[in-house]
Amino acid sequence: MDTQEAYEELGVDPSVSDAELKATWRRLVAAWHPDRNATAGADWRMQHINKAYQHIRQLRDGDGDGTDEDASNGAPAASSRASTAPESDASKKTHARKVRLSLEDAILGCTRTLRGHFTHTCSACVGKGQRVLAQACATCRGSGAVRRAALFGWLWNAESCADCGGDGRQRESCDVCNGSGELAVAYRRRVRFPAGVRDGHVLSVPTSRHGGMEIRLELEVEIEPHPLFALDSEGLLRCEMPVNGYAWMSGSWVEVPTPNGLQQMRLNRDALAYRLNGQGFPVTLRGPRGDYIVKVTPVFPAQDDPEQEALLEQLIASSTRAVEADRSQPLGQWQRRLKRWNSKQKEPARDD
Ligand SMILES: [Zn+2]
Ligand SMILES: [Zn+2]
Repeated sequence: MDTQEAYEELGVDPSVSDAELKATWRRLVAAWHPDRNATAGADWRMQHINKAYQHIRQLRDGDGDGTDEDASNGAPAASSRASTAPESDASKKTHARKVRLSLEDAILGCTRTLRGHFTHTCSACVGKGQRVLAQACATCRGSGAVRRAALFGWLWNAESCADCGGDGRQRESCDVCNGSGELAVAYRRRVRFPAGVRDGHVLSVPTSRHGGMEIRLELEVEIEPHPLFALDSEGLLRCEMPVNGYAWMSGSWVEVPTPNGLQQMRLNRDALAYRLNGQGFPVTLRGPRGDYIVKVTPVFPAQDDPEQEALLEQLIASSTRAVEADRSQPLGQWQRRLKRWNSKQKEPARDD
């Protein structure tokens, strides 16, 4: 018989006081003593009640002055640990759950109020939803078996009593958990998520008391996909954005999203990627922020707008002379090479 079985046998909670335990045991002995109880199995029941009581007394007395009964002590240290285990297990629980954060919350850190329900096994009935009473089962009158008439009425079959599961004891629905065997405890915690938490990080929140329970929250961070930003495999924050091709060519200012909000950034027609220092994802938990990479894709309109085509031709015409005249530019150098080559082609072939 283990400790839990012993308490169940007596129909009491492990938190019961010594005095209550003794009173319960006395009541049970009075109810089941074979001298007073004629039901089948009363003798067997009586033995079990005594065994259970002795088992619990041994645990509670620790190294045992053994005042009450049996002096045969087991290992005292292990026993006393075993006797306290169900209580501490019942009142201290770890509740694991996921928490979804936006990428901005993960970058900047945030405080969230978490609400939820935590269910735990009802300690009053050890999760069974019912309590075992001292009285004999009313259905089988304590025998644990019921007799049923077989098909032709002249055979009697003994079946295990369904109301008491065959142990002959009356049961009542547990009023602490309304017979469900579980209790729900609501909790509400304000939790600070440090800057730099990543997808899959598990945060352990110190225990707090909720409805008589010590609850330790274990929070797994889940970062929501972002409509604009993405974290690459190296942990760099990135954004890819289209920009007006002409604005890019002319070095205009554009608005770029950053975790702290919109920001003005100057385009440069020699660059498609821009590095914004210290505006990205923290390099470590609570650490400084890394860089933020903005990649731009210049977008040009489909060339079917006559007004824009006319403007472009004007632009080409006005820029050609300037571009070709610049000796340091590849286009100017190319034009001179082309001209030289072409004039040689036109010279008549010389006979040497
Ligand atoms: Zn219960
Ligand atoms: Zn029964």
